[in-house]
Amino acid sequence: MDQFDAGVNCINRQLMNYQQVSQPSITVSYFSACLQKSTMATVNDNYLKLKAGYLFPEIARRVNAFAQANPDAKIIRLGIGDVTEPLPEACRTAMIKAVEDMGDRSSFKGYGPEQGYAWLREKIAAQDFQARGAAVDADEIFISDGSKCDTGNILEIFGKNNTIAVTDPVYPVYVDTNVMAGNTGDANEKGEYAGLVYLPVTAENNFTAEIPAQKVDLIYLCFPNNPTGATATKEHLQEWVNYAKANGSIIFFDAAYEAFITDPTIPHSIYEIEGARDCAIEFRSFSKNAGFTGTRCALTVVPKTLTAKAADGSNVELWKLWNRRQSTKFNGVSYIVQRGAEAVYSPEGQAQTKALVSFYLENAKIIREQLTNAGLSVYGGVNAPYVWVKTPNGLSSWEFFDKLLQTVNVVGTPGSGFGAAGEGYFRISAFNSRENVEEAMKRITEKFKV
Ligand SMILES: *Cc1c(COP(=O)(O)O)cnc(C)c1O
Repeated sequence: MDQFDAGVNCINRQLMNYQQVSQPSITVSYFSACLQKSTMATVNDNYLKLKAGYLFPEIARRVNAFAQANPDAKIIRLGIGDVTEPLPEACRTAMIKAVEDMGDRSSFKGYGPEQGYAWLREKIAAQDFQARGAAVDADEIFISDGSKCDTGNILEIFGKNNTIAVTDPVYPVYVDTNVMAGNTGDANEKGEYAGLVYLPVTAENNFTAEIPAQKVDLIYLCFPNNPTGATATKEHLQEWVNYAKANGSIIFFDAAYEAFITDPTIPHSIYEIEGARDCAIEFRSFSKNAGFTGTRCALTVVPKTLTAKAADGSNVELWKLWNRRQSTKFNGVSYIVQRGAEAVYSPEGQAQTKALVSFYLENAKIIREQLTNAGLSVYGGVNAPYVWVKTPNGLSSWEFFDKLLQTVNVVGTPGSGFGAAGEGYFRISAFNSRENVEEAMKRITEKFKV
């Protein structure tokens, strides 16, 4: 059947449905869709709903314009969510050794297990989970090349009729991947997509999302939080787990920043919470604790006890579906990188990653203290590498961005870029050199008048 026949068939089908179509405008769009179908391939229209990468290009545009007009200004960028310090030595040594393994016929590795090597999964299970009283088994851990992709890909194993909740502000990946998957309608002028449930997190509710009054099926939680730097207590997470269990919901728990938790009462994993094995998937990454943003290694935990409903009403194990998805569409993380990640769990690796995290946390402390001295209200930055600043004098996020850029040549991230409820806030990242952080804070305390 050629394209022309396909188009004719399509029009015939629409003619047969014609009686049922009441609105002429819909009829016209049906027919024009048919005509298009007869002539060319079509795109995933959901992508056209995306508010195309507005935040970071707009920051770059304003910074570039300022730099061109002020060529002598020494601009300091505290807006980036990427690490700056080199890889821990233990990881580099392990990767160099792994490269040597690949050069020897007897230790060469071809395709590895799609789920990751057992020696890595076992160390993660023991040291990241079981040591904290979280019952996670090695074969419930799936090694991947990133949490960003996993938090998007996970939607593939869920149905199209789920009600989905995100916090506001939020890591934009959760929202955009739902738009791409067709789980939303269009965005309004504030950038909120129809069909998503937004849970505002602001200073008024201490940056913890309130449990929704309505029933939602999928919920994204990220603690310690990007962008607010907030953490969740055990009691708060227990409320979420209780809600999820009562409503048959699944929690997507993003723990990318767990290594930044210094307060011993704050849980690192959702599986430290009773009942979480029945309602939560956890995402973790080596990006922020070990500086793997460019090296790429992460993991997703899908407990074997976790189920969701099939169309026929039966309970289906999500582990089986994710295992099938990964086995079919993913061929594992490179042996060399997995050896590098494994080294994080050696005594040297533990000490070096701890030192790396402490370095960024010290930056965060300096930022918090100096911004407080400058008269600003600051949140986060204690158990997280992000400081969330309330813009002073009712300035909008972008007005504050411009003021900071123009008066002290410091770049941050406007809170409104993370969601409508981020308006009136501003994110400062602790991922930078000590020198840059100190210089930026010096300028702000000396020259910035609230
Ligand atoms: C940085 C980050 C991640 C990690 O993503 P990778 O793809 O593993 O580098 C995940 N979630 C959030 C919220 C992040 O900020």
